[in-house]
Amino acid sequence: MIYLVDASLVRNEEKDCICPRCPSYPECVIDPRLLLFCIRGKATCEVQRRGCMCPGCKVHTRHHFTSDYYCSIGNEEEQTRTDHKILMLFDPIERTS
Ligand code: SF4
Ligand code: SF4
Repeated sequence: MIYLVDASLVRNEEKDCICPRCPSYPECVIDPRLLLFCIRGKATCEVQRRGCMCPGCKVHTRHHFTSDYYCSIGNEEEQTRTDHKILMLFDPIERTS
């Protein structure tokens, strides 16, 4: 279960997100600061799947996530329908389509 209730906690998670180094990082995302698909949810464009680095990410391990391809499918809560309740009480980053 993960609750991100303020910006400092979100930044702490963002520094561990390795999405920008992933070969599948969505091409529609112009701003490389768009991170944490596992929490924020999928990108607005179709993702060319070339592998997913999420299972090797500290955020994934820290919160006992079990899914992958969050940028393509949806965040952990959406994919698992388990007790991962994700609160995003911070300003969302602009997405491009
Ligand atoms: S699990 Fe994936 S989407 Fe979530 S922070 Fe890590 S690399 Fe980014
Ligand atoms: S969610 Fe997974 S597939 Fe998508 S960019 Fe991040 S590491 Fe790559």
